[in-house]
Amino acid sequence: MHLEEMKKTIENLVLQKGFYNKPEDVPKKLLFAFIELGEASDAWKKGETREKIAEELIDTIFYILDASRLACPGVDLDKMFLEKLKANRSRPYQYGEGHRLQSRENQV
Ligand SMILES: [Mg+2]
Repeated sequence: MHLEEMKKTIENLVLQKGFYNKPEDVPKKLLFAFIELGEASDAWKKGETREKIAEELIDTIFYILDASRLACPGVDLDKMFLEKLKANRSRPYQYGEGHRLQSRENQV
């Protein structure tokens, strides 16, 4: 299943369950995504099963995709993913992680 198909499936679930479904609900959905991310982190710290950690990460993805359909309708996330992947691949090795070099220099 691709991102656009997942987005449509989530929309159907939201409508079926009567969940928040307006553009003004986007901040709530993004907050819920953060909460699920926190649950994933907590599961990791507590040494929970891989399945439990994966479940929390999937919850996060659900909320992100749900928010995306309201925040940026009409944007093809499959296409956007490939464009972003291409852009990231064109960047230098360890781009955006200059702090790693600094901390290595501080150890010497
Ligand atoms: Mg959860």
